[in-house]
Formats: sequence, structure tokens, C-alpha cells
Amino acid sequence: MKTIKKVLLFFALLGLVACQANPAENKDNSTDKNPQQPVVYTSFYPIYDLTKSIAGEDLDVKSLMPLDVEAHDWEPSAKDMKDLSSADLLIINGASMEPWVDQVKEALPDLKILDLSQGLDLLNASEDEHEEADAHDHDHEEAEDHHHHHSDTDPHTFLSIKNAIQYVDKINLALKEIQPDTSQNFDQRSKDLSQELTDLLTKYQKVFSEKKSKTFIVPHSAFAYLAKDFNLDQYPLQGLTSVDEPDLKTIQAAITTCEKLGITKVFYEYGGPSKGAETIAKEAKVETAPLATMEMQVPSKGSKEVHYVDLMEMNLENISESLDS
Ligand SMILES: [Zn+2]
Repeated sequence: MKTIKKVLLFFALLGLVACQANPAENKDNSTDKNPQQPVVYTSFYPIYDLTKSIAGEDLDVKSLMPLDVEAHDWEPSAKDMKDLSSADLLIINGASMEPWVDQVKEALPDLKILDLSQGLDLLNASEDEHEEADAHDHDHEEAEDHHHHHSDTDPHTFLSIKNAIQYVDKINLALKEIQPDTSQNFDQRSKDLSQELTDLLTKYQKVFSEKKSKTFIVPHSAFAYLAKDFNLDQYPLQGLTSVDEPDLKTIQAAITTCEKLGITKVFYEYGGPSKGAETIAKEAKVETAPLATMEMQVPSKGSKEVHYVDLMEMNLENISESLDS
């Protein structure tokens, strides 16, 4: 188990180096082997990775968002729009994760778009976004009559493995539609990926059913869907979309929470800054560890790629260790 963390760290560093060395290259995930292949654009890393795992080399899968930007802060450029205009399909997470998609729909009304979160039970954004640290005592079950404006939806559906399993089916169907000739390949890879995800889900269920403590401290409010799947409780240092460092008041509240709940690890965003987490860790005498939301720097180059399943496995290991009190 230790090795996987070391391996992930290695790739994180590798990713950082690769980006600094050649930022322009990050976006180009195409193989360019076969210009005739249908082109599938995906919005950001987890969607790209799941789609690529199913498409293999049978389709040209690209990430619209460069893989080294923060997903919440990104918008497509004029060039991105031009690239999209010749795409066969755009796959997005939906649930307001890509607020720019309305712009795309307006500019390219004929572009086929697959919204993966469509039909899922979406969670409302918690109060944390608006009221910062004070909101932690609020009931997480927001009033049902809350209006469902875009900004009221928690967009982090992709961090639920249960959802990811559904994503795989939806992606498979869509890929088969644009290239029926290679349907068998898509079916086989989807089956394998679903199995991997189902095995990981079983592992999560087993690990967390044996834990008494349920609260884990996260860098930003991204883990509500994951927490819900396993009856856990996230304690976010930041709101839904912010990746800035937490303020002093938030840090102090987190230190108290660590002591009160016997939390042994605080998390920073995998690929992001760790200063806030380190401050808490030092004061509360606990450790720091990364949690991947896959919204930031995710290693994409190098000899061996790190996949959605690997990162969710790292999350499982680190969250469960933080509850080891
Ligand atoms: Zn987020």
C-alpha cells in the first residue's frame, strides 16, 4: 500500500516537471495516428480518463480543458470553440461542473453533447460556500424547497464511484453510436472498467463499514457524493469551488475538530497547495496527505498513466487512515 502512494507522488512530481517544461503540450492527448477517427472531446480529467479507457485507440479522445488547470476556474477560448466545431461528440460531467457548456450549446447547436450526470440524484450545494467556516454546524440536508438554480447544485458527482459506474455505461453507449464498427471493443473495455470500479466500491464499503469515526477534513467541499455513499461526513476547509488557502478562522476551527474527533490526517488537494493543511497538521499534531478531486494537476504524461481508479484507491487509503483513531 505504501508503494502506491510513492508511485503516485512520483507521477505528481513528474507531471509538474512536464508541465513546466512544456505547457503547450499538455493539451494534446491525441495520438494523431489516424486522422479519420471520430474525435471525442471530454471536459476535464476524470471524464477524459474514463472515456479514454473505454475508447482505447479506436477513437481520438481529447481533453478540452488542459490537464493542468483548475477545473472550476476554466472557460473555453475561441480556439477551443473552433476545435469543438469539428468534434463528433463532447462528453461533460454536467451538474454545473462545466458552467460554460451553455456558451458551447449556443455557439454550436449541432454539436452532440453527452451529459453524464443527467438522471442522477443531485445534491444541493451546502451552506459552506456562502458562509465559510461558521456553516459547519448547519444541517447538511438543505431545505427541499430550495430553488434549483445552477449554482445551488453540488457539481462533484464524479467523485462517487457509484456514479462513475453509471458513467461508464453511458459513455459506452455514446461511443458505440458514433462508431458502431468497434462496438465489441468498447463493450469489452467497459465491462473491464465496470468490474474494476465495482471491486473498488466493495472495498470502500468494507473499509468504511468497519470505522466508527465518520468525519474527514477536506480542502474544498468536493466530497459530499462520496461521503453520502458510505455514510461519511466531509468537513470542508473551503467552499464548493474555491481552491485558495483557508483563512485563519477556518484553520482554527479545523484544529479544534481534529482534536475533538481524533482525526489523524488532514488533506490537501492532490496537485495543489498544502500550506493550509500543514498549518493545521502542525498545530493539531497530525499528518497531511493528498486527496484527489481530479480538478487540478493530474499526471498525464510519462510511461505509465495514473487513472481514475488509481486516484480513488489513493483517496480510500488516505481517508480511511485519517479515521484510524
Ligand atoms: Zn470542486
